[in-house]
Amino acid sequence: MRDEMKLTMNAIAENEYFARVAVAAFSAKMDPTMEELADIKTAVSEAVTNAVVHGYDHKGGILEIDARIEDEWLEIEIEDEGIGIDDVKQAMEPLYTSRPEENHAGMGFTFMEAFMDELEVVSTPGQGTKVKMRK
Ligand code: ATP
Ligand code: MG
Repeated sequence: MRDEMKLTMNAIAENEYFARVAVAAFSAKMDPTMEELADIKTAVSEAVTNAVVHGYDHKGGILEIDARIEDEWLEIEIEDEGIGIDDVKQAMEPLYTSRPEENHAGMGFTFMEAFMDELEVVSTPGQGTKVKMRK
């Protein structure tokens, strides 16, 4: 089976729930277990929150979510046109956060990596960030 969906929304905290539920509903076509569904929701939630907080500094902006099902794989891309990441390798390290004062633990990418099978982050400073995940 091959299927695809695209969503464009404002990168605001209020849309984190919508994004999470929409991707979970789409992925339900693959008949995931409850555990897999929970993993997907957590990963989407972390990526969307990063776009809201870091990408756009809570000011909102374009957030695009693409999800594809192909050959038993779910592929999710979450993209913002925000500030971007200078050092992606450092950003992906467990416990690294650029906002310790806002109670961020620096665990978002670590969770995405743990809950999905593949994680790739492509970012250009000043242009934005794309997070690609597969499960
Ligand atoms: P937590 O997710 O535990 O609340 P965090 O968001 O700081 O903390 P990660 O999600 O792992 O931790 O992200 C690590 C760092 O990568 C962030 O602190 C930020 O500097 C950078 N980053 C992540 N996503 C983006 C993004 N979409 N745009 C710009 N910078 C980002
Ligand atoms: Mg985060």
